[in-house]
Amino acid sequence: MTELLSTNLSLLIGFIFVFGLLVGSFLNVVIHRLPIILNREWKATATEILIEANCQVSCPKDKLPPKYNLIRPRSECPSCLNQLGMIENIPLISWLFLKGKCRHCKTKISLRYPFVELLTATLFATCAYKFGFSWQLLFSLIFTAYLISGSFIDYDHKILPDQLTFQLLWFGLTALVIIPSNQHIPSFSPDLQSSIIGALAGYLILWSIFWFFKFLTGKEGMGHGDFKLLAAIGAFVGFQLLPLVIILSTVTGAILGILGMIISKKGRDHKIPFGPFLAIAGWITLIWGQTITNNYLQFFKL
Ligand SMILES: [Zn+2]
Repeated sequence: MTELLSTNLSLLIGFIFVFGLLVGSFLNVVIHRLPIILNREWKATATEILIEANCQVSCPKDKLPPKYNLIRPRSECPSCLNQLGMIENIPLISWLFLKGKCRHCKTKISLRYPFVELLTATLFATCAYKFGFSWQLLFSLIFTAYLISGSFIDYDHKILPDQLTFQLLWFGLTALVIIPSNQHIPSFSPDLQSSIIGALAGYLILWSIFWFFKFLTGKEGMGHGDFKLLAAIGAFVGFQLLPLVIILSTVTGAILGILGMIISKKGRDHKIPFGPFLAIAGWITLIWGQTITNNYLQFFKL
């Protein structure tokens, strides 16, 4: 099996695409549940601290079961709470087969679910096409999965959980150690020094912009999660490509921000978090950073 995948690129891409659909289905769970799990933990900690300080606290209980994590309980329809059977849990196909409606209560199932599955599968397949059967493929898939879940959580809740950004940073450093040194490429774990400086600089660049902006305007332009995310991206792509990440995120941010304003008609007060744009830019840089800087943007590479 592994021999077949390592010699036949189309087969590898097809296999990784299907694998991406399954991972995308799991990412839907992460995007939905991780914020709820974190919120519960924060509330529990806050309550404990307040009780220790002899404060009167009463926290309203949520309706979810006490044991609630990324695996249990099984997925359910958010409307009628019927648990989904095996047949209803097949990525993409179930959604198409059920015509986007719950089998029991006929409530519409959000287009978000098949979208995340298809997005994950497409980006995974692109990684397979780009890196072939290699260590880079494994780490690019991890990178992609973390960026997708982080982006949607940031979009929904305006938070980028430390669990995601720090784990991604560790994976970036792990890639350095695991990928044999003769296989490192300039836009993917270039070398130890570049990656570590990349992680430090990634954090510090946004941290400085944050404080500069706050000093000038008194407003907070981005969240601390953004610094950590760029640190993680810096560990993967190396400090040399950080300027490209920042340029790309600003450009995509501006374009999508203006489009969003036009479509939603919410005006300038409608806040879109910066995390998803960093993620898009980081992903493009990991996959095509070398090509982009070699061919077009020598200037943006340190
Ligand atoms: Zn239902």
